[in-house]
Amino acid sequence: MLRVNQVKMRTEHTEEQLRKRAAELLHISVQDIQEMKIVRRSVDARRKPEIFYSYSLDIKTGNEDRILHRFQGRENQVSRVHTAEYTFPRCGQKRREGPTVIVGMGPAGLFCGYFLALHGYCPILLERGKCVEERQRDVEEFWSTGCLNEESNVQFGEGGAGTFSDGKLNTLVKDRDGRNGVVLETLARFGAGESICYEAKPHIGTDVLRNVVRNMRNEIVRLGGQVRFQSLVTDFEIRGGRVTGITINGKERLACGQLVLAVGHSARDTFAMLYERRIPMEAKAFAVGLRVEHPQSMINESQYGMADPGSLGAASYKVTAKARNGRGVYSFCMCPGGYVVNASSEKGRTAVNGMSYSGRDGVNSNSAVIVTVTPEDFESGHPLAGLKFQRSLEEKAFRLGQGKIPAQRYGDYREKVLQNSEAAGEADGVLQPQCKGEYVWADLSSLLPQSCSEAFVDGMESFGRQIRGFNRPDAILLGVESRTSSPVRICRDETLQSEIRGLYPCGEGAGYAGGITSAAMDGLRVAERIAGEYAP
Ligand SMILES: Cc1cc2nc3c(=O)[nH]c(=O)nc-3n(C[C@H](O)[C@H](O)[C@H](O)COP(=O)(O)OP(=O)(O)OC[C@H]3O[C@@H](n4cnc5c(N)ncnc54)[C@H](O)[C@@H]3O)c2cc1C
Repeated sequence: MLRVNQVKMRTEHTEEQLRKRAAELLHISVQDIQEMKIVRRSVDARRKPEIFYSYSLDIKTGNEDRILHRFQGRENQVSRVHTAEYTFPRCGQKRREGPTVIVGMGPAGLFCGYFLALHGYCPILLERGKCVEERQRDVEEFWSTGCLNEESNVQFGEGGAGTFSDGKLNTLVKDRDGRNGVVLETLARFGAGESICYEAKPHIGTDVLRNVVRNMRNEIVRLGGQVRFQSLVTDFEIRGGRVTGITINGKERLACGQLVLAVGHSARDTFAMLYERRIPMEAKAFAVGLRVEHPQSMINESQYGMADPGSLGAASYKVTAKARNGRGVYSFCMCPGGYVVNASSEKGRTAVNGMSYSGRDGVNSNSAVIVTVTPEDFESGHPLAGLKFQRSLEEKAFRLGQGKIPAQRYGDYREKVLQNSEAAGEADGVLQPQCKGEYVWADLSSLLPQSCSEAFVDGMESFGRQIRGFNRPDAILLGVESRTSSPVRICRDETLQSEIRGLYPCGEGAGYAGGITSAAMDGLRVAERIAGEYAP
């Protein structure tokens, strides 16, 4: 099999035309191509507004040695393919002393649960929130009435924190063992669509993601796993340095052989309980900032040289800068054609995030512009000091917005006034917030710590030099973006277990992932570990 890179095509083309182009490039006839698989497709906008797709293809043909000889010295264009074949480990022999229990049904817990179920381990999955269908109703009610259900919201419930998201599926995690491919193939099989396996920046949107989550749950159950909603794990039982059981909802005891802790970055009560139980953990760096909204047409113009890119879809961006005070500033979780969502999970505290539907057809783009904070920024060296820091920002945001999302135009933020934000009103043609959940104009200047606020403004100005209009005065800021990753790391060793044996910290909340795909990959890693040691 040959890997053929840099196959350039106009954005409107058929598969037949792609096959023909590949054959021309290899100097063979179309009939000589026995198999062709798209491995990667990225957008090449270097000659905007002329936009191309650049493909990597795997091609099976009878003339491979001759072709390779012809491309000697140009191996970056044509080479023999070496794909990382993923293999799930052979099941271990050890007897399990109780069922394998997985806490949390975000991507980490779902993937751990699915792969264990697939190999005969019949895991029990516990989720504090509700099934995705009921959860959706609670989230929509919160967005329309402001009435928050602390156990069923944008952070908690089946599918985890990314369920109401843009569903971006790219990850920076290296894929030496083929786990990324397996995660994407699995999502595709459960309804995400095949293109996620080859798009350079795959995304599926919240509408599709919800169906994928539901399909995965049904399959886990069909394979013999158990799924229990509204089951909050409130305590652990540790005997002889091993976890032997848990308490659910403060009253029911459940024995377990292995306990996978995939609770996500917002399970603050669970982190506190783990701390009390002396589970080793430490504070870690994360980032805080504000969501920023721009017209999507402006981003399209900047990235593709046209306001409406048609079938190419809404353009995205990624920008980074170093502020004058030394802090890193970067865009995060960019949602083309999306909405800013009230993603709070605690009463009296406001946190925002971003979401898009599969069509990415909203009029605004949004992304978080965030500034790195490290344990040195926190009040103390306590393992939960980062969590306290997050909470204090969210409390300020709640007060500023009187329970709604506080918003301000960037020009006013920079000048520390509020007049233009309010004065612009709802007039036609004026950029308006696209929010899920109510917003109110407010003065955000006191929201972030001063050094973060200075770094934020430096970042915005720098991004304005990279993307024309990024620092426009009417860009809308909304706060606070505080849940960018976990504020703690729950320590684990090379067996992926805590010092407390049988306890497997997993996914983003434990500090081993950042995003849907990497959390799912970590869930798969933990499943492999358990399966490699124990018998089904
Ligand atoms: C609005 C939003 C948009 C996002 N957009 C994207 C995106 O486009 N792309 C991307 O890659 N990432 C995105 N993310 C981040 C992504 O959602 C997370 O990285 C990912 O969900 C982490 O997966 P996880 O399984 O580790 O944890 P989570 O998804 O947080 O899942 C943890 C689960 O554990 C449950 N739980 C917690 N404590 C307990 C307990 N004690 N007992 C029982 N259950 C418990 C929670 O209810 C939750 O369902 C977004 C996040 C948000 C909030």
